[in-house]
Amino acid sequence: MKRPFVTKEQIEEIAKTYPTPFHIYDEKGIRENARALYEAFSWNPGFKEYFAVKATPNPFLMQILHEYGCGSDCSSMAELVLSEAAGITGRDIMFSSNDTPPEEFACCEKLGGIINLDDITHIEAVERAVGYLPKTMSCRYNPGGVFVLSNGIMDNPGDSKYGMTEAQIFEAFRIMKEKGVEHFGIHAFLASNTVTNEYYPMLAKVLFELAVRLAKETGVHVAFINLSGGIGIPYRPDQEANDIRVIGEGVRKVYEEVLVPAGMGDVALYTELGRFMLGPYGGLVTRAINEKHTYKEYIGVDACAANLMRPAIYGAYHHITVLGKEDALCDHVYDVTGSLCENCDKFAVDRKLPKIDMGDYLFIHDAGAHGHSMGYNYNGKLRSAELLLKEDGSVQMIRRAETMNDYFATLDCFEIGKKLIHR
Ligand SMILES: *Cc1c(COP(=O)(O)O)cnc(C)c1O
Repeated sequence: MKRPFVTKEQIEEIAKTYPTPFHIYDEKGIRENARALYEAFSWNPGFKEYFAVKATPNPFLMQILHEYGCGSDCSSMAELVLSEAAGITGRDIMFSSNDTPPEEFACCEKLGGIINLDDITHIEAVERAVGYLPKTMSCRYNPGGVFVLSNGIMDNPGDSKYGMTEAQIFEAFRIMKEKGVEHFGIHAFLASNTVTNEYYPMLAKVLFELAVRLAKETGVHVAFINLSGGIGIPYRPDQEANDIRVIGEGVRKVYEEVLVPAGMGDVALYTELGRFMLGPYGGLVTRAINEKHTYKEYIGVDACAANLMRPAIYGAYHHITVLGKEDALCDHVYDVTGSLCENCDKFAVDRKLPKIDMGDYLFIHDAGAHGHSMGYNYNGKLRSAELLLKEDGSVQMIRRAETMNDYFATLDCFEIGKKLIHR
């Protein structure tokens, strides 16, 4: 059973200061999970997690993760700038972008970050943008075809825009070695949100074997292998969570089977987890404000897809707990909707829930990653505040809610915009 990390009483208290909807994050859970990840990979001396900033680009959360050694995985100018402001610079930045504008390569190099090339043509793009090739470079690999795990989870690398073919990565390594690059890395992201302990070990085998061949055939020094993101979380209550210790142990086995015998027992492992780092430790709190009885039973809440768009765009399941009714019978069936003029703006469809009364607080689970960050302003909806529930039980606002002035700010150079903002 899924339990929220906050109680109804806590939320009632918090809502006196911070009106709903808001995102709230659990500092205790974040810290325990980050510690567990580092323990699971402590057998690898160079291990580093580069938190995928796009999942939750909040400097306060990035700094908590940084305390455990996490860097930033960035893929845009704003994410690079944010990392620097959060005090995360140099080798703590991995730049895994695609379709990259040249000024972003230059910015990454200025900060001392590692550039992970998405395409072979980017070798020249980096040289032009930066003026030279940095001594450390990484390449993103795409093996093509389909990637199937034994539980049926499948992803389709052959259909994805990312990464280089095997032939291209060999060629890229030869070219870059010739041009003076000394330390090489490889990276791949083959399946997303895998709720199974076998994804990382399987991916590791693919990448480790490739690394051995690359080292043998091109003579380069492979310094690190980046397993990227993709470790999932159990959004549904009947799913079993990944066990990061089992995953770390699975990767260690493959490391000892493939890399160690090849004399490559010094290769550092990197990860770029987003969802796994923060997903379960954030929730969207919203209030039931309308009920409607037509062909179905609807509960209207004060949040909408602008606050959490995964259900609207992917039909993604997010578990919902009606606070204070954790143990009540789920004997009602509702669509839980937001107010956008879009019929897909539903947090749940035909969901069995306890009877919901107007004013009830709903806790929408697993919104800590790819939640607030995907927010948008359709229908003039404003993005909510982000709050941090600290270990001592106090609450810190780590991002204020948007105001209408924020929404109108890009009209400020016009008379009508000035009127809107200074009304
Ligand atoms: C999105 C992304 C990640 C993180 O993915 P999760 O599913 O959150 O683990 C890591 N690396 C890259 C390059 C990404 O684009």
